[in-house]
Amino acid sequence: MYESVPHAGGVLHNYVNGQFVSSDTTFANINPVDGSEINQVAEANADTVDAAVTAARQALEGDWGKMTLEARCALLHRVADGIEARFDEFVAAEMADTGKSFEQARTIDIPRGAANFRIFADLVKSQSSECFQTPTPDGRGALNYAVNKPLGVVAVIAPWNLPLLLLTWKLAPALAAGNTVIAKPSEETPATATLLAEVMHEVGMPVGVFNLVHGFGPGSAGEFLTAHAGVDAVTFTGESKTGSAIMKAAADGVKGLSFELGGKNAGIIFDDCDFDEAVNGTARSVFTNGGQVCLCTERLYVQRSIFDRFVEALKQKAEAINIGWPLDENTDMGPLISHKHRDKVLSYFDGAKADGAKVITGGGVPVFGDARDGGAFVQPTIFTGLAENARIVREEVFGPVCHITPFDTEEEAVALANNSNYGLAATVWTSNLQRAHRVAQQMEVGIAWVNTWYLRDLRTPFGGVKLSGVGREGGVHSLNFYSEPTNICIKL
Ligand code: NAD
Repeated sequence: MYESVPHAGGVLHNYVNGQFVSSDTTFANINPVDGSEINQVAEANADTVDAAVTAARQALEGDWGKMTLEARCALLHRVADGIEARFDEFVAAEMADTGKSFEQARTIDIPRGAANFRIFADLVKSQSSECFQTPTPDGRGALNYAVNKPLGVVAVIAPWNLPLLLLTWKLAPALAAGNTVIAKPSEETPATATLLAEVMHEVGMPVGVFNLVHGFGPGSAGEFLTAHAGVDAVTFTGESKTGSAIMKAAADGVKGLSFELGGKNAGIIFDDCDFDEAVNGTARSVFTNGGQVCLCTERLYVQRSIFDRFVEALKQKAEAINIGWPLDENTDMGPLISHKHRDKVLSYFDGAKADGAKVITGGGVPVFGDARDGGAFVQPTIFTGLAENARIVREEVFGPVCHITPFDTEEEAVALANNSNYGLAATVWTSNLQRAHRVAQQMEVGIAWVNTWYLRDLRTPFGGVKLSGVGREGGVHSLNFYSEPTNICIKL
């Protein structure tokens, strides 16, 4: 089935100083649809990471640092063109690594991977800086303005759920702002990052500007990179506890940090909502990508007067989801990323049942009677009946699951939604305009949607509060993070 996957049966290499480099140690890249091995991956050791950091430093001081903004942006456009020229290979690689559907990889993951380069290449050209007329005692005054410089060598560490999309979401603005980068994709999804290195090579990215190291976190490429004295800043998307580990590793160098972390997102459904829209939108927000999007909703609060009707309608949506082969055009949902992650998700299901949850639907593993039984699938799952302190209501599961709780008043709904250690996203469903604004503004999150979910304008600030992140990216917020403004003061 996967004969057309690039590098199938081969080895994915690191890319350092403009060359593809192997390693003494490799690890297997597994297809979560059936548990088969796709290829081997060369694990970067400390020396390889060191060589990547040295190359990135030299490139900053070389051609890249001297390149005009116009030329740099033109090159980033060529990267986007290069991804599109090999579109089918990127789609095949992303599907094989994640098991996600052809439809999703084709319409979301890979197009956004290319678009990120175009968006930030265009945006950086209109980046402005502030300028002040400053009074002085002698009456002559001074002019204070700022010039933006790159941060320097930036480590970009990405997760597995939207591999190319999230890696390029950080790489593109970092490069647009003139930095050099070392990318470390997740060990679960190394393929599209490797194809991206090939594209960088093909379009003539100057040597050392983009480097790629494969490997794991602790004791491997991730930790070598974040603790490296030559890295100026770390931009990371992943679990909150990994963010905490990276913060500790980066502390000695007092490195710049941007973190997009986990979520335990709430959806509030008021009885004045458009019922069908709320059910459809909520089903998307719970089950998209098998629940493996940081923005997915795992806690639902539904007004009591429509509670039973809503639970029944969402159950029907969950049971209509087609789970299956990525290439089957009827497939809505693929497997989880790995058996290890499935074990974690199933432990939450077991815990919920042990805590006394009512299983509305799912709660286990589907049986196919074919090779998919070797994959990492779970059933779309809905629970009700648990108290707010239950583990599955408190902790991020990152699977196709939600718990639904009834509420009576608006104040109660707001308090329930905000009762979380996380603060990434919230969704509010109501047709009352004043309530929409009032409730959305009270959400303790980085992004609150009303009557929609995952509607993204890439110019808007993106990030989380509490355990869900540090800083904001998106549009000028990204460029601001990846730039170092230097104040110039001229006495007139
Ligand atoms: P993860 O934290 O396990 O791994 C992410 C990356 O960090 C991987 O490349 C991994 O190798 C690396 N890593 C792990 N430990 C490290 C260490 N000690 N030092 C350096 N690098 C290390 O996350 P994951 O399981 O790949 O992704 C799922 C998580 O990501 C979920 O919590 C999800 O909510 C979060 N996420 C957040 C956003 C967001 O925008 N807020 C987006 C997507 C995913």
